[in-house]
Amino acid sequence: MKDYKLLIDGKLVAGASTLDVVNPATEEVLGLCPRADLTQLNQAVAAAKRAFPAWSAKTTAERGEVLNRLADALEARHAEFARLLTEEQGKPLDFAMFEVSIALGMLRYFAGRDTPTKVLREDDNVRIVQHHTPLGVVAAIMPWNFPMIMLCSKIAPAISVGNTVVCKPAPTTPLTAMLFGELCVGLVPDGVINIIGDANDLGAALTGHPDVAKVSFTGSTATGKKVMQSAAGSLKRLTLELGGNDAAIVLENSDTKEVAAKVFAGATLNSGQICMAVKRVYVHESQYDAMCEELGRLAEAAVVGDGLEQGTQLGPIQNKAQYDKVLGYIEEARQKGKIVAGGESNDRKGYFVRPTIVRDMPEDSRLVQEEQFGPVLPVLKYADLNDAIARANATTYGLAGTVWGNDLKHAYEVAQQIDSGTIWVNQHLDLPYDIPMGGAKESGVGVEMGEDGLAEFTQAKVINIAKHGLAATVA
Ligand code: NAD
Repeated sequence: MKDYKLLIDGKLVAGASTLDVVNPATEEVLGLCPRADLTQLNQAVAAAKRAFPAWSAKTTAERGEVLNRLADALEARHAEFARLLTEEQGKPLDFAMFEVSIALGMLRYFAGRDTPTKVLREDDNVRIVQHHTPLGVVAAIMPWNFPMIMLCSKIAPAISVGNTVVCKPAPTTPLTAMLFGELCVGLVPDGVINIIGDANDLGAALTGHPDVAKVSFTGSTATGKKVMQSAAGSLKRLTLELGGNDAAIVLENSDTKEVAAKVFAGATLNSGQICMAVKRVYVHESQYDAMCEELGRLAEAAVVGDGLEQGTQLGPIQNKAQYDKVLGYIEEARQKGKIVAGGESNDRKGYFVRPTIVRDMPEDSRLVQEEQFGPVLPVLKYADLNDAIARANATTYGLAGTVWGNDLKHAYEVAQQIDSGTIWVNQHLDLPYDIPMGGAKESGVGVEMGEDGLAEFTQAKVINIAKHGLAATVA
């Protein structure tokens, strides 16, 4: 078994203890994650703090060179990372290859990028200039659904503008992050990137650490609230990318087959374990039966299996706790609605769930109201569009949503009425690097990606110069 290490101050070190990492397709131990203790967490933060002055003093181009070298090193081991990603996360291998490509793209997108200094006003009397300065040590905390994308989406912007980082992957998917740590040795100055593992027990110490200036957190809303509380002690800067219960609204007279295919993909990609997955779909009564039938047909045809097997479309649910949660939603669907496809119990090893399409679920059921984070999709009927919009918005979440329809103007009008950070029309999950994304309501605080996302890793500093002030006093 490979010996994974923490990355602290530019060195690969053993953890104070280890933690089993389980392959969700086999339920067998895949590797041992080095688990840091509080002393090692403090060492990682101290290393990041020591590295900050020299790293922030470098030019953006110099820091960009380091990010590009890191991207080259990742690219050279692309297939190795993808395989490990499949083994620890469960996703199909070709999708894992894609995830590593996106992670690579993020390193390259942010390499050499800085928030520009702007002259806000210049006249005979004053010159007012806005600079953006790095914050210091950033704590980057990741969930288990996209371990590589999440890691690079935080490291790249954070260090590009001159911060240093301490990263903490999720305890069930830490190995790709530890492997990434190996790439950093010798390429990245000591202490600029630190990576520690835990057993879900170090998050609070990291987010509450007095030497951490900013927390970039992606995970559940419940944990996000705890992060906000623990960061309050020193008023840390925060970006919180949290959960969602994204609705798809299918407008009347849509093409059932085409929309069903896209909605199905949006609900089941990564086995539904996507913050912005389609989590419920509202369909006009005139097309409701046809849509349920078509979604059911797609679910029946989907290939579920070990991500390493050729042809697998849906891998297992990533961990046992989430698997049990998803089975709970299926049980509720059996009692309160009608299962069109899927839902059967699984007699093979591994946390596999067949894509499950559920119709006639009550609006107040847990499956409709909560974030299922698995491939179990409730299809809901509406007669009046305003009612569908109101139901889509009747949630404390506000991450994303989709509107599907032939009349783009009408679809755009509907999109404007959805209370979410992102709304797609006739497409789903288009997430370019230069477009900010963030949640409304309890789905988040702040944004990631694009110029706005980069700016969140900086402090705006305004320098306001009176051109004649002192001379006037002297005179
Ligand atoms: P989680 O909140 O359980 O864990 C996320 C991370 O927080 C893990 O690394 C965990 O160890 C850590 N953590 C646990 N307790 C902590 C504490 N008190 N303080 C600080 N950190 C702590 O989430 P999860 O189950 O790993 O991920 C699934 C959730 O993530 C879903 O709700 C999903 O919607 C959300 N998510 C959101 C986005 C987004 O961009 N909005 C992206 C991916 C996932």
